[in-house]
Amino acid sequence: MPNHSQTNADLLARSLSAVWHPCSQMKHYESFPLVPIARGQGAWLYDYDGKRYLDAVSSWWVNLFGHGNPRINAALRDQLDTLEHVMLAGFTHEPVVQLSERLRGLAPAGLGHCFYGSDGAAAIEIALKMSAHYWRNTGKPGKAQFISLKNSYHGETLGALSVTDVALFRDAYGALIRQQATVPSPDWRNAAAGESAEAYALRCAATLEQHLQQHHAQLAAFIVEPLVQGAAGMAMYHPVYLRRARQLCDEYGVHLIADEIAVGMGRTGTLFACEQANITPDFLCLSKGITGGYLPLSVVMTTDKIYQAFYANETARGFLHSHSYTGNPLACRAALATLDIFAQDGVLAANRTKAAYLNGIARTLSDHHAVRDWRSTGMVWAFEVDSPHRDFAQRCFALALQNELLLRPIGNTIYFMPPYIISDEEMDLLVNRTLQIVDQLS
Ligand SMILES: *Cc1c(COP(=O)(O)O)cnc(C)c1O
Repeated sequence: MPNHSQTNADLLARSLSAVWHPCSQMKHYESFPLVPIARGQGAWLYDYDGKRYLDAVSSWWVNLFGHGNPRINAALRDQLDTLEHVMLAGFTHEPVVQLSERLRGLAPAGLGHCFYGSDGAAAIEIALKMSAHYWRNTGKPGKAQFISLKNSYHGETLGALSVTDVALFRDAYGALIRQQATVPSPDWRNAAAGESAEAYALRCAATLEQHLQQHHAQLAAFIVEPLVQGAAGMAMYHPVYLRRARQLCDEYGVHLIADEIAVGMGRTGTLFACEQANITPDFLCLSKGITGGYLPLSVVMTTDKIYQAFYANETARGFLHSHSYTGNPLACRAALATLDIFAQDGVLAANRTKAAYLNGIARTLSDHHAVRDWRSTGMVWAFEVDSPHRDFAQRCFALALQNELLLRPIGNTIYFMPPYIISDEEMDLLVNRTLQIVDQLS
């Protein structure tokens, strides 16, 4: 192979020269260097010198069963020798059919139709377009606005950004985005003194109701991240909010879009977060962990009622959206292998034991004088650190690397979102080293 790096320094230099990295101010890599990764194994990533990092953020929330997972690798090798890809318009193949059937069996009842995309943001675009197109097809073309929660994150293409409430990602593109309204987030950290998470969620739902009452004639859908608002800094809330949102959306004739791109696939303790509210959304968006962190794939699951509104003789009534790699067979096989692991290994029950173990050993951290709002939902943990450092996130990231940890704080929020194969010893290491880092930065 020409130009294959053998050292960390060589890979870094070539990367900075040729690769424009995502979610980055490239100049900052002068003071906080890129991390070269040569290979991965289980919960660990390794550089060319054999230095290792515990992947405590699952490589941006995608990895579920470790790097180099033997079962997913075997499924992919088999698929490679059979069919790498075929277009899904006018054609079909076994992996995409199997995956759709299995997801239908696992998802909240009633979501019988799967539409595929490649990335999470594409799934959001699909859900928004499908919702508005449904209303057009059913004689209500005026229903074309959306609402989302304060501090929502739904991806960074223009449609997804229009329902994303993170100023840093939006402001430069304000002129390109159609402004949509937000309603208060049920994030329990905003509850009044003495108010329970549940009472606060109901109070926020009452505001949602007012908004729906006034604007339902223009509204296509309400989009939410169920239970945990990830990119906002792992804001968590009571499931009663989702239950109430489902009732209100039904009452006012507005679709409910559940963005489970980050929280789906077991992350919150159930396979899908919506299960904890016992609701079926009109659209369920999945991506990230769906392939176990191997390949880009996203899917929007929806109901027969919505599907039927597109089923007609006229082409233009159909949903003509497409991506070149829609339903890629390799990605679908990785997803099927991922679902096999869930079923064969009793992953959700094992995760409950792991979560209880981490909660038990984390007392030193949660009781630390500089730690605020310690919280967890399933296999997600988060807390804020009182620190005098204005560049806390970058310092913490760098210090974590020195301590063999891959942590990627959001502002002053440190979170853990480890792969589900993390062992007790690895959780000990994660908590103990994080405690040292918090000590140093507070
Ligand atoms: C990551 C994420 C997205 C966007 O997915 P991409 O694959 O990065 O486009 C959308 N919604 C939520 C909740 C996410 O966490």
